[in-house]
Amino acid sequence: MTQITESPTMAIDAKAKALKAAGANVIGFGAGEPDFPTPDHIVEAAAKATHNTAYHRYTPAGGLPELRAAIATKTKRDSELDVGAEQIVVTNGGKQALYNACMAIVDPGDEVILPTPYWVSYPEMIRLAGGEVVAIETTETTGFRATLDQLEQARGDKTKALMFTSPSNPTGAVYPSDEVEAIGRWCVEHGIWVITDEIYEHLTYGEHTFASMPVLVPELAERCIVVNGVAKAYAMTGWRVGWSIAPADVTKKMVSLQSHTTSNVSNVAQVAALAAVSGDLEAAKMMREAFDRRRKKIHSLLNDIDGVDCYEPEGAFYAFPSVKGLLGRTIAGVTMGSAHDLADVVLGEARVAFVPGEGFGAPGYARFSYALSDDDLEEGVGRFAELIKSS
Ligand code: PLP
Repeated sequence: MTQITESPTMAIDAKAKALKAAGANVIGFGAGEPDFPTPDHIVEAAAKATHNTAYHRYTPAGGLPELRAAIATKTKRDSELDVGAEQIVVTNGGKQALYNACMAIVDPGDEVILPTPYWVSYPEMIRLAGGEVVAIETTETTGFRATLDQLEQARGDKTKALMFTSPSNPTGAVYPSDEVEAIGRWCVEHGIWVITDEIYEHLTYGEHTFASMPVLVPELAERCIVVNGVAKAYAMTGWRVGWSIAPADVTKKMVSLQSHTTSNVSNVAQVAALAAVSGDLEAAKMMREAFDRRRKKIHSLLNDIDGVDCYEPEGAFYAFPSVKGLLGRTIAGVTMGSAHDLADVVLGEARVAFVPGEGFGAPGYARFSYALSDDDLEEGVGRFAELIKSS
């Protein structure tokens, strides 16, 4: 336990929410969750489920059979991956699926290749399973994408797995399909597992499109765990439903693990997820349009600030600007030693919350979630800009 730290994204969100609760007018770019309500038909399905006494009881640890089957159908529909219900475990959010996956395949001493900037929980989960993190640094010069040369340099005798995310939290990077395929083929060639996090599959913009690695490289199937969930595509972060898709033997082990740790995910939440994945993608489409508009806005507003340099996000709902140009400057009487200092001062002085890059393995950067209203977005970046200008 001494090896791990509190999630910095949750910490900044909690700080901003506490300030808000105390009456401060805080604009939060911290949380990685859509600002839209969960669509009505999903909420109604859940409300109805509360009256079904079968859902007042324990159900199978791996998930409601009808939901596992619906996830298999949805996966074929959305990413063209053919999977059976026996390969699916329904989890407490994508987060638990990732944790189960690490516990299932990472042994003490195994190395897991992890491109930076990474989502904050990956390195902690790898370490909790006893694994070693082998970080590969990516920057805006390669569009925040790892190259085959970098992967090859990171590979060693103990390499067990690659953690792969596209679209990415925190950078918004999307790997083009030829790169996804090349990385998948490299993993097959070297017998390396892939944990591929597809939670932002529906959120890509412009010419950028999502590509699923095991679809492009079917030979990867026996060493691939896909992670997904309803949180981001259906505005359902609080419902806590995700899933893993893995070879059937690995899935069995993950179900065993879950049966001893958390048992079934709340039945009512599973019924809500069933309504989500069985329905159409209209709500996801509507949110994508709003995010695309905000993405363009935040990209341009951040780049207008002297000392801030923002790569154009391609997917998910995060902007990940470099704030290196502000380090060393004095803002509100404090000399900026790190992005962390900057986040602290901006929250204190301008009441604007964002997450410093350190937690993502990327000092000198900052993550702004643009899943907030257009007005708040403009107001928040405006306050940040004003503080910098006046310092
Ligand atoms: N994977 C990535 C890349 C994420 O950004 C998140 C949430 O922020 C998750 C997984 C976990 O999502 P969930 O809310 O389903 O646990």
